Amino acid sequence: MKAKKNKRERSEQMQQVSAGLRDVLGMTQWRKEHPHATWAEIETAVDEQINQLRAQLIQDLVQLGEGENWSQKPQEARPKCARCGKPLWARGEQTRWIQTTGGEAVKLTRTYGTCPACGVGFFPPG
Ligand SMILES: [Zn+2]
Repeated sequence: MKAKKNKRERSEQMQQVSAGLRDVLGMTQWRKEHPHATWAEIETAVDEQINQLRAQLIQDLVQLGEGENWSQKPQEARPKCARCGKPLWARGEQTRWIQTTGGEAVKLTRTYGTCPACGVGFFPPG
């Protein structure tokens, strides 16, 4: 079942998303301003927009699972020290930038924690 999808079979939902994005991303306007754009120019313009969107989408999805700020949570709901099991103390957020394959950087913010008992500091997983 590796048959390539024919363009005609592209889902109606995808067409609606494309139509919406065309306006939101300013591509409809761009096309009006570049009525003689070549295939390559159109492709480049779309790639630039999509890569940014792609990076934002990845960032949002990653943050949904990992970017949880647990610093305001009750002790029992906080991540535990991997060494002694005590609830961690939040030590503020730290930001990392990760490069995506689309060439855009994705910002990740995670809460850094230290153990009040043994002093170990780390980014809790999850
Ligand atoms: Zn500890």
